[in-house]
Amino acid sequence: MEIKYISTTCPYCGTGCGFNLVVRDGRVFDVGHWQRAPVNGGKLCPKGRYAHEFINSPDRLTKPLIKKDGTFVEATWDDAYGLIAEKFGSYKPAEMVCLSSARTSNEENYLMQKFARVVLKTPNIDHCARLCHSSTVAGLAAVFGSGAMTNSILDIADSRCIFVLGSNTFEQHPLIARSIVRARQNGAKVIVADPRYTPTAQQADLYMPFVSGTDVAVLNGLMQEIIRNGWEDREFLKRRTKDFEDLKEVVMKEDYSLENVAKTSRIPAESLKQAAEWIATADVAALIYSMGVTQHTTGVDNVKSTANLMMLTGNVGRPGGGVNPLRDQNNMQGACDMGALPDVYSGYQKVTDEAARQKMIDAWGVDDIADGRVGYTITETINVLAENPGEIKAMYIMGENPMLFGPDLNHVEAALGNLEFLVVQDIFMTETGELADVVLPAACYAEKDGTQTNTERRVQRWKKAQDPPGEAKEDWRIICELAATMGYANQFPYQSAEEVFTEIGAVTPSYHGISYARLDPDGLHWPCPTGEHPGTAILHRETFATPDGLGVFSPVEWKPAAEVPDAGYPFVLTTGQVIWQWYTGTMTRRSWSLEREAPIGWIEINSEDAKALGIKDNEVVRASTRRGSVDIPARVTDEIIKGVMFIPFHYKEHPANRLTHNVLDPIAKIPEFKACAVKVEKIEEV
Ligand code: SF4
Repeated sequence: MEIKYISTTCPYCGTGCGFNLVVRDGRVFDVGHWQRAPVNGGKLCPKGRYAHEFINSPDRLTKPLIKKDGTFVEATWDDAYGLIAEKFGSYKPAEMVCLSSARTSNEENYLMQKFARVVLKTPNIDHCARLCHSSTVAGLAAVFGSGAMTNSILDIADSRCIFVLGSNTFEQHPLIARSIVRARQNGAKVIVADPRYTPTAQQADLYMPFVSGTDVAVLNGLMQEIIRNGWEDREFLKRRTKDFEDLKEVVMKEDYSLENVAKTSRIPAESLKQAAEWIATADVAALIYSMGVTQHTTGVDNVKSTANLMMLTGNVGRPGGGVNPLRDQNNMQGACDMGALPDVYSGYQKVTDEAARQKMIDAWGVDDIADGRVGYTITETINVLAENPGEIKAMYIMGENPMLFGPDLNHVEAALGNLEFLVVQDIFMTETGELADVVLPAACYAEKDGTQTNTERRVQRWKKAQDPPGEAKEDWRIICELAATMGYANQFPYQSAEEVFTEIGAVTPSYHGISYARLDPDGLHWPCPTGEHPGTAILHRETFATPDGLGVFSPVEWKPAAEVPDAGYPFVLTTGQVIWQWYTGTMTRRSWSLEREAPIGWIEINSEDAKALGIKDNEVVRASTRRGSVDIPARVTDEIIKGVMFIPFHYKEHPANRLTHNVLDPIAKIPEFKACAVKVEKIEEV
């Protein structure tokens, strides 16, 4: 019996913890602690600890499947590739859409966008950051010139004040929460604003429960209080920023006085005052946010506002400071970096820039690629499919499950039903896979080499620990073989993930200096422009990434959520995750150690609201919005603000997204998952 320990990176959240996969006779059977792992130093949250349990599930996909007369039939790879090539070859470029995946590696995301642009010649390529952090990319880029976390995870421990807004860090990024704990042990003040009294809120020195969707009002109120007290960092403002007067004009309005913000947000004025003082007068302060900030119709505004606050207080470009968006999926940062987005190639080189387009044509060795038009986002694709059937005809989805994670699932289902041809590539049959014409079996993270980039821009390795089951193959290999079938073997000649990464380094300025040889054992933070460069843990230390190097204040006015409570739907519904599950549960619900802890969904209802509705704890109630209804157990609690309700979105039996609202931020096209109007009723017994 041979036991091996293969060090790799966790496939769940964007923290990027390292661990050892323990392999016996060629088969993974456990996760072991990897004590020198750079981000987590051997510690793991439950998801990482049990990240081996789904790998050898008996229901892994092992053969290509082709749907015939409504039933899936096993097929050979050649037959599957042949059918896909024939179908894709019959459509115009604009009629096809590729959906890439933040769960797969950098190499696979790079190849998926290359496949879309080179083989299909379509500009329609996107991935699920659209639904989570597209507002981060747009909002931070507007202010700082770059849309990524400014500081590192370990650096948070050096902060003297940490403001956590819209992030349940202790449940969703537990090993980042460790840095918050360390900072607090060293005397830092921790402020948490959240509608729910989460495990994160329970660790706060100052907890500010507030109404979901009032973020900009709160942030503007804090900035007004800071300016009124003269706490702004004038030297930083003068030396590093511009348009401060524009910011003042907005945030000093009476609407954003502490008294008015208290009415809008329901945070007491005294709490806001205290928070403003702590943030502004700390030696160094950090702001942490996640999907509570981004998943709104005002997502870009919310993000800009966080950046305004931290520039106002001079907390950007410094150890222990910064604006720190926590990416929720393992490789969401990397999928964005790789250009699996409709407006940029890898390294955020704009498709509308003719020089960048020509650079890619030359690098890829083709006469032409997708035109320099910005393609459809995934949210726009779903709307076009629903509203204009026939405009989009075919989709290729890798490692994503929009049938559980899209907003307003009835709408998503109707939209996907209008496709003529759907290919889904995944490790398990999913709700989206059930709708496909062809399903391709993919290797999981433990079965392939590759890299992923965590939320702090650290590029790290995945290492193969076992063979994929049956005939399943690595996503990168499937894309290459399909491209070859369609006549592009020369453009997709790779024999290994490392060869793909070499090309990524060549065409992506921020990855120029990164190679597999340099990634062990600590990884490297981009930007890393040369082979000697040590990587960049803290961004914007001397200048911002804007054309003139100055941070640009981008004032925003508060706007309410697109759908606010009324007589018919009198409560605000917000959604989120729990520590035991992850996204649509495709992997965690097959991990018995995780599933047994949180096997069903629920709706959290404030105890006063429950009393008024006559609802008891654990009673199954009907939650309804203008989109649909879900029957779901009630969890009656004081740990959610009155008037707001919460449903975790993991469960197909209680799908929160049957209720959510398909309305988008106008710039980032991110849906408003975090606020819509809901009613809850007792279910009458018959
Ligand atoms: Fe994995 Fe995130 Fe948990 Fe770390 S914190 S073990 S990356 S799920």
